[in-house]
Amino acid sequence: MVESGETDWVSRFADEVISESERRAPGKPVVCASGLSPSGPIHLGNLREVMTPHLVADEIRRRGVECVHLLSWDDYDRFRRVPAGVDPSWAEHIGKPLTSVPAPPGSAYGNWAEHFKAPMIQALEQLGVEYRGISQTEQYTSGAYREQVLLAVRERARIDAVLSRYRSKQVEDYFPYKPYCDLCGRDLTTVTAYDDATTELAYTCECGFGETVRLAEHDRGKLVWKVDWPMRWAHEGVVFEPSGVDHHSPGSAWIVGGQIVGEVFGGRQPIGPMYAFVGITGMAKMSSSKGDVPTPADALEIMEAPVLRWLYARRKPAQSFKIAFDQEIQRLYDEWDALGRKVEEGRAQPAELAAYDRAVRTAAAPLPATPHPVPYRTLASIVDITTGHAEQTLRILRDLDGIDSLDAARPRLDRAQRWVDGHLPAEQRTRVREEPDEELLDSLGPEERESLRLLADGLDDWSLDGLTALVYGVPKRRAGLPADAQATPELKAAQRAFFALLYRLLVGRDTGPRLPTLLLAVGADRVRKLVGA
Ligand SMILES: [Zn+2]
Repeated sequence: MVESGETDWVSRFADEVISESERRAPGKPVVCASGLSPSGPIHLGNLREVMTPHLVADEIRRRGVECVHLLSWDDYDRFRRVPAGVDPSWAEHIGKPLTSVPAPPGSAYGNWAEHFKAPMIQALEQLGVEYRGISQTEQYTSGAYREQVLLAVRERARIDAVLSRYRSKQVEDYFPYKPYCDLCGRDLTTVTAYDDATTELAYTCECGFGETVRLAEHDRGKLVWKVDWPMRWAHEGVVFEPSGVDHHSPGSAWIVGGQIVGEVFGGRQPIGPMYAFVGITGMAKMSSSKGDVPTPADALEIMEAPVLRWLYARRKPAQSFKIAFDQEIQRLYDEWDALGRKVEEGRAQPAELAAYDRAVRTAAAPLPATPHPVPYRTLASIVDITTGHAEQTLRILRDLDGIDSLDAARPRLDRAQRWVDGHLPAEQRTRVREEPDEELLDSLGPEERESLRLLADGLDDWSLDGLTALVYGVPKRRAGLPADAQATPELKAAQRAFFALLYRLLVGRDTGPRLPTLLLAVGADRVRKLVGA
């Protein structure tokens, strides 16, 4: 159980949010919020928009306080541009709400927004994120915001005055509501007249259409973004909603919204830390399964949900960090496993323990864990060498760690497999030789032959520890040193030379996966054959 108090950034925000919610809405559930636009593949970088309030909401729930995490899908926003890879004829839909645009060809979903929401919804489920999704299309078209829309339009001069504090030039006839054209469905409309008494609104569209509607009954349009956001803070009673750096410059939606929410809607701005950019490494040369954009689903293909959660839990929102799709993921997993051991042995610091606990479980349930977590880099080596062959993989895991079923190594094994398949560059993949390199074997001197014979003779202790002792021990014995001899520069050089020879004989390169793992994977008989012993 994470104690309330100064444990980490999450508990500090939870303290603040709970007491602020008590002041603003005593006895009501605490409301945290996120917003995502399904205008295309939802970038992995945007996951912070959801994870930051999720972690705080989860901490609040852990304390037994009722809390809702609203996730607004900005699916009533206009379709802005046709992304690369989609039929250019989709340009005819530019200006329509995202829910009125057909899904990309071949999609199983009814419209553009649903198509791009779906993988995010799946990823959030895997990540254990509990939220209440709100479709802005449903909200606007059902008239849920009717009173707020009428209020904003009535107060348009006041809104204009707030906006003009940040504008250099004056805007004629500012109007905070944009109708979608009844004929063509696009927002290429201009409001030409409005009568406050009757709410009669006249608009014309670039398509040539024009009509007069009663705004009090009109549900096909939306407030402009800088008014829409503060309207929702007030409407939903949001107490916590972080946002990205780009929303925090002068005149931006967060700054302007903070004034509009009070001056127009009688609400208050949420507690809203600014979160820093999340970078991605190692995706440049790899193409994502969903296009050119790395998505949360792509990250979950190569790492377990708790590890991805941990990246967000251990960094304060203002700290930027990177998510690695390259070799760095192996180091990340080493760190994660080291933390797991510290926690198990009771050596973790309170903040480390809190981040770990937030990663492995939510208030509702623990996340799926790998029963037998073999190091990721070892799993990656094994699936690299065996090319994913299940029987060989199981044989190695049994020799390595006494594992008697692949399921015991899952889901981590599957993640490592996908990483090797999708992100290990072809030139770094390991190909064990089928036949001995006779030319190389013939060129060896007596010293090297003797080393290889010692290796072949020592293959009886068929365990990771035994093979580790063997590969380091052969050069020691050749140098007349005892097995526990300290490494000298000369010994290290001899070991490097011996390892390079083994790599050339086994995989035809100077380097490869860790040798003991490689030997386990290759198998004793094939090792003997390839080293000519
Ligand atoms: Zn039109």
